[in-house]
Amino acid sequence: MAAQSISGSFGAGEAASRLAAVQERIAKAAEEAGRPAGGITLVAVSKTFGASKIEQVIAAGQRVFGENRVQEAARKWPVLRKPYPSLELHLVGPLQSNKAKDAVALFDVIHSLDRDKIAGALAKEMAAQGRRPRLLVQINTGAEPQKAGVLPEQADDFVKRCSEAHGLEIDGLMCIPPIDEPPAPHFALLAKIAGRLDLPELSMGMSADYEIAIGHGATMVRVGSAIFGERET
Ligand SMILES: *Cc1c(COP(=O)(O)O)cnc(C)c1O
Repeated sequence: MAAQSISGSFGAGEAASRLAAVQERIAKAAEEAGRPAGGITLVAVSKTFGASKIEQVIAAGQRVFGENRVQEAARKWPVLRKPYPSLELHLVGPLQSNKAKDAVALFDVIHSLDRDKIAGALAKEMAAQGRRPRLLVQINTGAEPQKAGVLPEQADDFVKRCSEAHGLEIDGLMCIPPIDEPPAPHFALLAKIAGRLDLPELSMGMSADYEIAIGHGATMVRVGSAIFGERET
């Protein structure tokens, strides 16, 4: 049954070979785009996966991971990351202002800043904790009502306000294209907004479309199932 491949651990060497396959495809997509592969950070999205599977991916050499929930990350990562001082943890999912304290304590990069209230909460916690996670603003490129993110036409004002009202430096933008549309126009739109705001980082592309994202300038690709296998829902 298919369910067997969803269980807690890989077969021997499977983590390393899946990771190597993704790295190779990133290198090839970078080459085709005329970009250095070193300019693209692979964020291995480990949400829903347990410690044993994650440890195998760490053992295969991966040092940058992403989670989409603050509480899940708080349960899993403090112990997991302890032996690896260089390990980076990214928050790729939504952030509520009442989780700002935990988020600032746990994460090195936050991809999902999208509201003034959260900007204020993050600024306060960053000052209190003396930690400065790098920040990306999530843009709702498809203007989907149910989706998080700042609307494209409000991106400039929001980024400016983060800096002027909250003293937050924004490193880049993130998007999740609508699932039922070709992603390329969304990646192009995100790149265009980042270009006019002079923001260097572009977090875009997941398992199904990271090569397309690299073709449009992605500097961070967020890849889960291509590395870890299918998630149980
Ligand atoms: C789960 C998730 C990913 C990874 O998705 P895959 O399709 O498994 O690669 C990337 N970005 C965000 C925001 C996610 O929640």
